[in-house]
Amino acid sequence: MSWRTAYSLDELLDAINAAAPDRSKAADGSIGDTAHSSRTSDHNPNPAGVVRARDFTHDPAGGFDAHAFAEDIRQLGIAGHPALGPGAYVISRGRIASATYGWDWRDYDGSNPHDHHTHVSVATAAAGYDSNALWGVMQEDTMQDADFDKIRTIAREEAERAVAKAGDIVKIDVGTKAKRSLATVLKEIRNGTRPQ
Ligand SMILES: [Zn+2]
Repeated sequence: MSWRTAYSLDELLDAINAAAPDRSKAADGSIGDTAHSSRTSDHNPNPAGVVRARDFTHDPAGGFDAHAFAEDIRQLGIAGHPALGPGAYVISRGRIASATYGWDWRDYDGSNPHDHHTHVSVATAAAGYDSNALWGVMQEDTMQDADFDKIRTIAREEAERAVAKAGDIVKIDVGTKAKRSLATVLKEIRNGTRPQ
């Protein structure tokens, strides 16, 4: 029987691979092995021939922390990502969170604790598992708060430099009143209170 992976999981795999192209894929997978096929698993194709699960290898050195990613998936579940509707769940490092239980982390006591990979099952309904909604998980990982702080600092320095340069010109042409207002502007920029 022919089978395919749910489109939402293809999207997710693409996003992860684009962000961490050199990551290990040792524990990656979609369709189940023979051990899976002997029991109920989302790694087996559903009646429509669609596999609704994927495993993602934990490889922080290669740029992919599967357990931090699992928390991102949980947060997306809480936020109502369409692929994470009823039937969806994530398993990572002895924890499971599912749509059924409001995406709270609970203890997972299956035989494989999922230390080396994170398992994601998407919604049972086709509109959910084949959703093409963006995931956004890896973009959030690569842009940290510290990066935003750096960008803010650079922007502030550039603005101060521009104001200082204008001040030199205005000082000559306009006099003290303009100098004072530019000093105020500079202070507002430094304090981050300048109106947008
Ligand atoms: Zn799995």
